[in-house]
Amino acid sequence: MIGWDEVAERVSRKALVSIAEALPAPAELDAPLARHTWIGLGGPADLLVVARSRDILVEAVQLARTYGVPWRVYGGLTNILPPDAGLRGLVVLNQTRNVQFGPDYRLAVDSGAIVVKVAREAVARGWGGLTWAVGLPGTVGGAVVNNAGAFGGEIAQILVGADVLDEQGQVHQVPLSWFGFQYRCSKLKGAGNRWLVLGAEFQLRSGDVDHLKAKADVYTERRQRTQPPGRTLGSTFKNPPGDYAGRLIEAAGLKGVRCGGIVISPHHANFLINEGNGTAVEFRTLLKRVQRTVFEQFGVMLEPEIEILPEPETQDSVQESDAAS
Ligand SMILES: Cc1cc2nc3c(=O)[nH]c(=O)nc-3n(C[C@H](O)[C@H](O)[C@H](O)COP(=O)(O)OP(=O)(O)OC[C@H]3O[C@@H](n4cnc5c(N)ncnc54)[C@H](O)[C@@H]3O)c2cc1C
Repeated sequence: MIGWDEVAERVSRKALVSIAEALPAPAELDAPLARHTWIGLGGPADLLVVARSRDILVEAVQLARTYGVPWRVYGGLTNILPPDAGLRGLVVLNQTRNVQFGPDYRLAVDSGAIVVKVAREAVARGWGGLTWAVGLPGTVGGAVVNNAGAFGGEIAQILVGADVLDEQGQVHQVPLSWFGFQYRCSKLKGAGNRWLVLGAEFQLRSGDVDHLKAKADVYTERRQRTQPPGRTLGSTFKNPPGDYAGRLIEAAGLKGVRCGGIVISPHHANFLINEGNGTAVEFRTLLKRVQRTVFEQFGVMLEPEIEILPEPETQDSVQESDAAS
């Protein structure tokens, strides 16, 4: 498979303009990604379109394939660090939002549905099984790909199946087992993935509204108390087996350490905050410093939970050595 960077040089402006003209939704050339990412970082996407229906989502990807232009689909952009140099090709923001609460506690949702809204609606209806997600940023598609979870719940516990689009543009209905779920991971996770989740079906269960609301309040309060506000990507690193990434980073004396406009939160050491003037290079530099320091002190190599899209080689090496000094 050809990677994003390998084709970057070959993306033709003419092809991008042709895609923009053919798309059945407004598309923006040179669209700054920092406007859309939760961390507020990322340079321009060559072309960006918002897909509000499955048809537009599928057509956008199909057009990119037809014109030989690289493409990526994102949901809430809550878990992504794009490079300062931006992304070449077409970026599709998935805002397909259909949600159907069906019989027997079956929930069918478009992949662009906002998890927080779906989870809150489930609680209000007295449907149990998704309460853990009342504060989970992002879309259903991102949550499925990442096997997102919190407070002992995770997507793998409730997913029945999904509609997925393959590399040739064919739609398949796949069961839970197809995803190969592991801790915060599925076989679709990673920048190299070329399959799309179009929609998902969840099996929820009967619950008591008051009980579910009380539980949701506890989870919300716990998030507010433990997670720092501001522009973040959530937990930067996965918890290593039997330990917590935040504990190790704090024990290594790194709380409050900064690189330019990016700082390790003094409240929760596994959160890196963009104070508003940070860069992706600074974020990655700080991330590497955390990995190195924790490894030197405790022999544990922390693995990122977030998806980091690399800067072009030359730019990275120059700016990162500057930022580290
Ligand atoms: C403050 C904060 C708190 C968080 N707390 C938690 C938490 O408690 N638990 C947890 O698990 N995570 C947490 N996260 C991380 C994040 O919320 C989840 O990973 C979320 O599920 C990502 O969804 P998204 O739509 O934003 O994905 P994006 O960031 O848009 O995309 C992530 C990846 O998924 C791919 N993708 C997105 N949609 C699709 C699709 N439809 N088909 C195929 N691939 C797709 C993208 O291409 C990309 O590779 C937190 C993040 C923040 C900022």
